[in-house]
Amino acid sequence: MNKVIVFLDCCYPEYVHLDPTLSLKLMQLNATGQSEEAHASISGSQFLKYVMQAFTSRANGGTCKDLDCKCGELLNGDFITLDDLRSYINTHIKSKSLTGILLHQQLHNINEKDIILCFNYKHPVKFEFTLAWLGSLELTVTACVFPEEFKDDFTQLKQLKHVLTSKFMGETI
Ligand SMILES: [Zn+2]
Repeated sequence: MNKVIVFLDCCYPEYVHLDPTLSLKLMQLNATGQSEEAHASISGSQFLKYVMQAFTSRANGGTCKDLDCKCGELLNGDFITLDDLRSYINTHIKSKSLTGILLHQQLHNINEKDIILCFNYKHPVKFEFTLAWLGSLELTVTACVFPEEFKDDFTQLKQLKHVLTSKFMGETI
């Protein structure tokens, strides 16, 4: 390992100091400044939710938790860079989906190539469900669900049942 990537969303976040003898590369992106308090909802850090959404956007079909948001169009390259992520986060700050965020970053030993955070995985990650009526193979129906459609909690099967019912029945529940 030679690159450390840090995301902090906490009150008064400090900049990470690495041992200079290790010659590590450092990229740090904080949701607030060192003298500012963080803002979080009862469900956790909204900042980190959008960071994770950015990293999984293409695999989730480019969807956003915000209706009518076109942020998926910002992430079309083969890689996601720190600049891409900052633009993605700032888009949601401008649309007021993210509030109380003022990005601060620290870079150490970073050159142009190092600015890449990750591959932008382009193959959709989705689950396929098949509804089959007993005794009638002709009435089999298949539907695909992206994890993003589960909303914020992947452990809630109730949400999945609503999504699947809507897809199988062709109507919004
Ligand atoms: Zn969005």
